Amino acid sequence: MAAGTPHPLVLAGSGESGSIFRPGGRFFRLAGRRGQLRSRRRLTPPRGRASFRRMNIEPLKEQFAARFGRPPQHLVRAPGRVNLVGEHTDYNDGFVLPIAIDRQIAAAVAIREDRTLRLASMEADEQAAVALDEPIETGSPAWANYCRGVAAGLLDAGVELVGADVLFHSDVPLGAGLSSSAALEVCTAMALLAAAGKTGAVAPYDLARLCQTAEHVYAGAPCGIMDQAISVMGRAGRALLLDCRDGSTELIPFDDPRMVLLVADTQVKHAIADGGYAARRTQCESAAAKLHLPSLRDADAGMVADAAETGKLDEKETMRARHVVGEIARTLAAVEALKGGDYRRFGELMYGSHASLRDDYEVSCPELDAIVELARPLGGVCGARMTGGGFGGSAIILAQAERAEEISQAVAAGFAERFGRACPIFATRAEAGAGML
Ligand code: ADP
Ligand code: MG
Repeated sequence: MAAGTPHPLVLAGSGESGSIFRPGGRFFRLAGRRGQLRSRRRLTPPRGRASFRRMNIEPLKEQFAARFGRPPQHLVRAPGRVNLVGEHTDYNDGFVLPIAIDRQIAAAVAIREDRTLRLASMEADEQAAVALDEPIETGSPAWANYCRGVAAGLLDAGVELVGADVLFHSDVPLGAGLSSSAALEVCTAMALLAAAGKTGAVAPYDLARLCQTAEHVYAGAPCGIMDQAISVMGRAGRALLLDCRDGSTELIPFDDPRMVLLVADTQVKHAIADGGYAARRTQCESAAAKLHLPSLRDADAGMVADAAETGKLDEKETMRARHVVGEIARTLAAVEALKGGDYRRFGELMYGSHASLRDDYEVSCPELDAIVELARPLGGVCGARMTGGGFGGSAIILAQAERAEEISQAVAAGFAERFGRACPIFATRAEAGAGML
């Protein structure tokens, strides 16, 4: 299915009828001084049959003109993502299988006469100024550090940037595990390259790496390559099998109109800069070192079991390594299942991934576990798992399209009963990676 063609699915009841199945979902603003997140409900959720999201770009253009006194010269975009399977494998040189989703960060851009970047976001109160001819350092507001890092990376790569005004606007919920941070980085890169007349000057995988480095160095989050890679390289109707060791890719069809992917947001804020993620990374590296391997990609289940028995790996290292080895195998098996249209098998692999992330990798949380367990017995559900780094964020449910509404209702109702609040659920699909609008 090509990007932009209406999806054949009609998922009823968007919003005002009281349905929780609201593809329009919610959106967020960053609060002013402390940079904390505020969330607020849409007052008028989209009505009718629109099941997938198309961002309205008009407010972005209008606000750009109002703030900067002239219309934008370029409009660019970069999507958020959902990882179908292959979690915490990217920084272990393994395989991942993400899709770019129909949620994105867009930016309006116009060049300036001077050598300054002025960066503003419709989701943040404060704007930032970055002088291109001075060393670029982290600063306030914190959200702009992702952009500062990208500007610094492009300059380091020898790209001659020009001064520009940039305004961002997003419908990727922040901190929901859908990688708004990577979307912001990639969107920044697209904006700065467009302003400089250098669109396409940096090869896709190099661009992803540059954005990843920005997140490491300027945001203090030791993320893998997956989020940036899929935001750059996603394709409509395709999942991306990415070998994180060498950057090679294969596009896997993910466009069966009988199926739908539901995203359930726990609204538990994960923060991968907070230590749990970095600790997992360190444990994997120490496990690989003790096995005398370059990375856990080179390990197999037998090696891990032997090393556990002889005490070469401690308990946590064993658990982490077991997850990574199993998850890499599950990802490759999931690709075969998708290619064969075997959604039952694909679903089993999703459940297996979730159990391993919960028990061996210890990155799930009660809310994510609840969504998976609520979905599992429902008719029409093929599989479910947490997606993204964990410690909160979102879970995904692969379901038959015709049952998606009732599945969403049942999961949200069960979640509300258990946690006293609803979890927003929306349908998504594989969309194109970053580009011009
Ligand atoms: P995730 O990537 O899962 O959404 P992160 O914590 O990695 O969560 O990234 C969220 C951060 O990215 C926000 O706290 C903010 O600093 C930045 N960010 C994302 N989207 C925007 C936006 N539209 N405007 C400003 N900052 C944003
Ligand atoms: Mg992130």
